[in-house]
This record gives sequence, C-alpha cells and structure tokens, in this order.
Amino acid sequence: MNKLIVNTFIEKKINNGIQLLDGHDFKDLSIDNQLVEVFSKTQHFLGMAYLSKQNKGIGWFLSHQKITLDETYFKVLFDKAKKERSYYFQSDLTTAFRVFNQDGDNFGGLTVDLYDDYAVFSWYNLFVYQIREQIVAAFKEIFPEIKGAYEKIRFKGIDYQSAHLYGQEAPETFTILENGVSYQVFLNKGLMTGIFLDQHEVREALISHLSSGKKILNLFSYTAAFSVAASMGGAVETTSVDLANRSKEMSIAHFKANHFELVNHRFIVMDVFDFFKYAKRHQLTYDVVIIDPPSFAKNKKKVFSVAKDYHQLISQSLPLLNEQGLIIASTNAANLSLTQFKKELEKGFGAQKHSYETLYQLPSDFKINKNDERSNYLKVFTIKVNK
Ligand code: SAH
Repeated sequence: MNKLIVNTFIEKKINNGIQLLDGHDFKDLSIDNQLVEVFSKTQHFLGMAYLSKQNKGIGWFLSHQKITLDETYFKVLFDKAKKERSYYFQSDLTTAFRVFNQDGDNFGGLTVDLYDDYAVFSWYNLFVYQIREQIVAAFKEIFPEIKGAYEKIRFKGIDYQSAHLYGQEAPETFTILENGVSYQVFLNKGLMTGIFLDQHEVREALISHLSSGKKILNLFSYTAAFSVAASMGGAVETTSVDLANRSKEMSIAHFKANHFELVNHRFIVMDVFDFFKYAKRHQLTYDVVIIDPPSFAKNKKKVFSVAKDYHQLISQSLPLLNEQGLIIASTNAANLSLTQFKKELEKGFGAQKHSYETLYQLPSDFKINKNDERSNYLKVFTIKVNK
C-alpha cells in the first residue's frame, strides 16, 4: 500500500477533524484512486485515507486506525448511521430522508437517501464507485427492508449519470411524504429527484408559521416544493418562477398530489431577472419572497454565481415586497461561509431597514462534520423587511 507523507499543515488539519483533502494542499501527487497510509514528515502514522479526484477535493481521510474497506467496515458505518436517524425511521409523516452523509457519517464521497422503500446512492468519485459492491452488500444487510436502489454518478468519466442498482425497480414517479405533505419524486432521471431533501426544515416552517394568509413568490422554484408547503400552511396565493420548461409540469403534479385547486397558484417559466421586470411592470407584490438559486448557473444571457450576484436577487426583490414582508434567502453554496453570505445579503439590502429572524441549516439526517464548515453548506435566513 502506498504511503502518503503529509506536511505539518495538513497533519494539523487532519488532527483537527478535517476529512476532505484539498487539492491545493498536495502538489505533484502521482497516485490516485487508492487507499493509502498517511504519515507525518517525521514518519509518524496518522491514519488511513483514500485518494480520488472529485468535484471538490482529491480524497478523504478515513480513520486514525489501520482499516480494511470490506463489507464489515461499511456495515459498522451503516448501522451507526441508521441508529442516528431513528427519529426519521419512526415517523409516519416523513418517508424520505438521508441515511448516510459523507464525512458527517465518517466516509466522504458517499451519500445514501431513502425515498420510501427505495434508496439512492450517490458516488462522488471513482474510488467509491469502484468499491460499490462492498458498500451495497453491507447496505443490504443493514437495510433489508429497502426494496430496490438507484445510483447517481457525481463525478466525471463515467458515461451515465443515473441507473438502477439493485432489487425492485421503483415506479417512474411516485409520492413520498414529508411532514404529511406529498411530493412526487422520480429516481432514475438525471441527478435530481424532484425534491431537495436538505430543505425539510424550511418547508416545515412554511407549513407551520410562515405562510398563513400570505401571498408567496417562489423564485428558482424547480418542482415548486416550497410553494406546495406554503399552500399547506395556508398561503392564499403562490407564484413559482423557474427557467426550465419541465419545472411547470412537475410543479402542477406536486399540487395535484395534495389535492389543491390550481386557481390561486401560478407557474411561470421565465428567467428570474426577467420576472423582476415583468412583476414591476404589472405592479405585482408579495408578502413572502423565497430565493433559492443554484450556486452557479449559466444560461444564454449570463453567468450567475451566488458568491458574486446574490445581492442582486435581494435588491430586485425589495420593490416586490409588501409592507412587513419576509424574504427567505437560501443558498447551498459550500464555498461561501455564513459571514460571506450575510455580506452579500447586506449589499443587497443597502439602506433598506430589515431584521434577521431565523437561520435554518441542515436538518439532522444531513449529519455534518462539525470540524469542517464546508460540510455545513446550507444557509437559509428569514429576514423581515421593514418598509
Ligand atoms: N428551490 C428549489 C430548488 C432550486 S434548484 C427547491 O426547493 O426545490 C435551481 C433551479 O433554478 C432549477 O430548477 C433551474 O432550472 C432554476 N434556474 C436556474 N437559473 C435560473 C434563472 N436565471 N431563472 C429562473 N430559474 C433558474
């Protein structure tokens, strides 16, 4: 087995509980896609890691002990992860959640989500993909109740993104429950599934106290899950805006799954920045504006990045807000710290009076590595705007 000698800077990071290995910390690394023993400059054994290039990082530190990545190893990890989600397993009202989350569950590069009776595995690099047989065998032992599974490829170099992995095939679309609300999902179309499970708590807040009697604008709405939750919470009207054509049909399906009449719900296929102009022209106003853009997006006209452009979403939402309106500002950008995000928001508010109410972060099924801020990527502020 190859040895990876690390300098004192990296040694310190590892000892501080960081598991994700940064590419820029390792220059001229000639090995890839393998388990390695990690040693300090002074030949002190630090533990074991695996190297494999992925979207962010070049590998993951795994353990301070010597380990073998066999079925037993993963059984222990899955068993622990399952026990830690007993709250979700006991709930009849929520049937979709994450059961394994990367470094939060001590194995970076892998996530597993449950959608009712089915599991979705995401492989974030080639190394995890190559050892998926052991991983799946262990998973089946610990989760015998799961009828079938799908896989998502979240790294470059494999010629498919989504496939059936084992067991029964799920229906092409089916409904799951979250806090008693039905959402329509699909497990084998690209990387997305119709719902972003990490927003459990924001949808819950929309149902319990943010929406009653309110007119809601949901920007970057995808399948309009926030609008459905808001309607369940008593919103009098929702408007969902997304650029993608397919979003409209999926949004309507979500509303129908919950037996809502569609009269008070609008689905607009439009660029959000064009919608701002449209809304201004038609003097449309709202009590709550939900802003949840992708971290990075490119379309014909321009490039949008949360880190540079979020402030525009705030400043352009302000004219559409009623008195005492609420902005729900969300981002899943891991490269933006909470402080940096707040700075972006402040830039958008300018001189406009406002007050921060609540910060929602990842729910407990998305277990984070407390020692690595990057694993705690979700940031959602509710902000009262005092016009
Ligand atoms: N808020 C959603 C998830 C958003 S995913 C939820 O809770 O489920 C990001 C969405 O933004 C995608 O559906 C994509 O089509 C849309 N999008 C990206 N750029 C856009 C733009 N400029 N205007 C409108 N929608 C955009």
